[in-house]
Amino acid sequence: MRQTFYNRIADTIADIHDQGLEKIERQITSPQGPVIEVDHNGTRKQVLNFCANNYLGLADNPEIVEAAKSTMDEYGFGMASVRFICGTTDLHRKVEKEIAAFLGYEDAILFAACFDANGGVFEPLLEAEDAIISDSLNHASIIDGVRLCKAKRYRFPNSDMGALRKQLEQADLDGARTKLVVTDGVFSMDGYIANLREICALAEEFGALVMVDDCHATGFMGPHGEGTPAHCGVAKNVDILTGTLGKALGGGMGGYICASKDVVHLLRNRARPYLFSNALTPALLGATLKTIELVRNGGTLREQLFRNATRFRKQMTEAGFDLLPGEHPIIPIMIYDARKAAQLADELMEEGVYVTAFSFPVVPKGKARIRTQMCAGHSDSQVDTAVAAFVKAGKKIGVI
Ligand SMILES: *Cc1c(COP(=O)(O)O)cnc(C)c1O
Repeated sequence: MRQTFYNRIADTIADIHDQGLEKIERQITSPQGPVIEVDHNGTRKQVLNFCANNYLGLADNPEIVEAAKSTMDEYGFGMASVRFICGTTDLHRKVEKEIAAFLGYEDAILFAACFDANGGVFEPLLEAEDAIISDSLNHASIIDGVRLCKAKRYRFPNSDMGALRKQLEQADLDGARTKLVVTDGVFSMDGYIANLREICALAEEFGALVMVDDCHATGFMGPHGEGTPAHCGVAKNVDILTGTLGKALGGGMGGYICASKDVVHLLRNRARPYLFSNALTPALLGATLKTIELVRNGGTLREQLFRNATRFRKQMTEAGFDLLPGEHPIIPIMIYDARKAAQLADELMEEGVYVTAFSFPVVPKGKARIRTQMCAGHSDSQVDTAVAAFVKAGKKIGVI
């Protein structure tokens, strides 16, 4: 009996491998950054990194590292408790208040990850008589969180505002008590920005609430890095905002939910990934306070990030590559063919540029791509070097 289980697991692994879907983890042997050292066929190789979520280049920032060290000296290593028993330090509340103030909310609540924040946000707030209306491309953690909640589920195709209107109408017909529209602020495979202006207008018209998961935007989108709602001019219209400390905000780990005081209060009492999971370690919180300070004064970093994005887009387009349109520092290079995309990524590694190929099931069949992500830590000339490598590798593979 047990052997059949282990045989089945082995078969599944073989299947994943045969379909070319196996995820291979390349080992980095340096700090995360715009330039990293990786293990390449058994030797260490220095490469330009164009596939981290390190948008502002803060992952190895010396001031943040120093803040983590000094906080660890002062507060020790671990909390060994959930928040409500004996796991809340003054730092936990300070970070929550700083995040809320930065993003323009009454309060915020920390989680071990945004995956947990999204997993825990719906169930305490909505019940069977309520409705969740969700974009079809929303992050896996939102999908899981919605599944854990008894509210009725409605889905609309990615950014299809006509379909969203229909689902709002349907939810009304079904007698929904509360309607919550939920969307990613930025869709990570395409770098497309949610149409929050229209979503908020529709929500207003139908008396619905809006929740935005802004993991790929907080820190760099919007005039001062407040994210997609500010970028779209609807900062005051988003009821619930979730985000991560694992991307632009230092890239460590941790997630949060920003909302009204009462919503946060209820989540502290009912959100299961919060109630039944350890408090964040103090070093991370000390580092996060420094990160928020750097981000709030991060105009120069944001300028460099978007300058890199514009420069890369322009040169890659001129070179004949097929890019998805947009303004976000996620810049997908469309290859369409999965094998060619993988070959191109391999060839770029040889040229000293680290990028990742994405194919089905992460993106639709026939839509394979190299998803590049810009970083404020790259200089103009490093962007130029990456483009030159793309051109050389692209010609070799025959995609330009
Ligand atoms: C990365 C990401 C998450 C998960 O964040 P973690 O803090 O790494 O768990 C959730 N939602 C979106 C849209 C993301 O991009």
